[in-house]
Amino acid sequence: MKLYTLTCHEAIELIKKAEIKVEELVLSCLTKIEEEEPKINAYITKTFDSALDEAKRIDGLSEKPPLAGMLISIKDNICTKGIQTTCGSKILTGFIPPYDATVISKLKASGAIIIGKTNMDEFAMGSSTENSFFGPTRNPWNLEHVPGGTSGGSAAAVAANETIVALGSDTGGSIRQPASFCGVVGLKPTYGRVSRFGLIAHASSFDQIGPITKDVTDAALLMKVISGYDPADSTSAEIGVPDYISCLLEEELKDIKIGIPVEYFAEGIDPEVKSSVLQAISLISENGATCENVSMPHTEYAISCYYILVSSEASSNLARYDGVQYGLRIDGENLIDMYRRTRTEGFGDEVKRRIMLGTYSLSAGYYDAYYLKAQKVRRLIKQDFDKAFEKYDALITPVSPSPAFKIGDKISDPLQMYLADIYTVTINLAGLPAINVPCGFSKDGLPIGLQIICKPFDEQTLLKVAFALEKYLEDRR
Ligand code: GLN
Repeated sequence: MKLYTLTCHEAIELIKKAEIKVEELVLSCLTKIEEEEPKINAYITKTFDSALDEAKRIDGLSEKPPLAGMLISIKDNICTKGIQTTCGSKILTGFIPPYDATVISKLKASGAIIIGKTNMDEFAMGSSTENSFFGPTRNPWNLEHVPGGTSGGSAAAVAANETIVALGSDTGGSIRQPASFCGVVGLKPTYGRVSRFGLIAHASSFDQIGPITKDVTDAALLMKVISGYDPADSTSAEIGVPDYISCLLEEELKDIKIGIPVEYFAEGIDPEVKSSVLQAISLISENGATCENVSMPHTEYAISCYYILVSSEASSNLARYDGVQYGLRIDGENLIDMYRRTRTEGFGDEVKRRIMLGTYSLSAGYYDAYYLKAQKVRRLIKQDFDKAFEKYDALITPVSPSPAFKIGDKISDPLQMYLADIYTVTINLAGLPAINVPCGFSKDGLPIGLQIICKPFDEQTLLKVAFALEKYLEDRR
């Protein structure tokens, strides 16, 4: 058996029964990484030595921790004590955090083993992982195509069996869209469900950390570990964490009402994506769920609203990279000159574009016209969802208007790149949980995913519907 093909729940079982050793599992993944990396470039930093040491230590324990066997790759914007954390940027190259993000402490305490830090668009800005200082990641299904972004390294690593599970972060789609492009599961939790302490901020009122996995059960397993209140994050919610695994067992969807937002199937969507998602929806309704069209009238403003707000927050968050406190420093004639040189050299084009856009919309003369207006539109988009959830338990939409595009296709046209997020940014604007479930392939053999969206803090229903759909699709195959 090729151990790297295991899901996390399978690996944990085998280790519990002492049929395999953690060390064997780690070695199997490391060999696979060495084999795939020259093609895929999913990792920025590999932590093979510490992973092997930790595996041996766990193998030696008589009482194993609950998640012994969880090998995990971490997006490089999540702080890991003693391991370089770059955010895909030159400006943070060589930055070694002195502490772990809360999610990392929780994972370590459960016995998870980190095998590396994954590639990403610089500061989580982009949709293709082409904006990385460390070069693009390639899609394992077709090396000429992007893996999606910004958690492209994590999604590609899971799809290519270069890890067992991974963490990504999602500000406007960065877990779900790469998961859909790479044919894996990606879950963006409700805002406040998972601590952001130690996640390098892109846009603080949007960012969430979440799992990227081979199946829905693994996503539930990982959610159980990383969720929960954290006093170190003032935006984390004091709401109990349900047992996400047990809700997977209730397979019945008979009482579930699902809304299909018509605006997400309008012009611009690739016909193969549309038919794949609609077929999956009919599979769900054949199995007893009620599926009906619903209208979300403010959807058309989502992209403009999102990019104004996200750039504004980013322009403020990124002010801290000044050559004094972290990473890169280019000396200059005086302090201001040092700032200027460091930021000119350290940031890539997309990051500079967002800092300029955000500074502009926050500036005195334009604040009301852009930032404040966008905040009001954000509320209207949230109200569209509130209204839909008065009637429906879940909504289903596509994740991306097209399957993975080619490397180089959109990189010189930022607006085209922004439009790749048209179906995902609304969810972050409203702070909702959503998941990508693979639902088919294009005729060129590229994966297609669909998005399930639920009420705030209702990850149980999200996982339940996703798990049922995964099973229906498997049965159909
Ligand atoms: N593509 C979106 C952006 O560039 C989403 C980014 C993300 O979710 N981190 O802002």
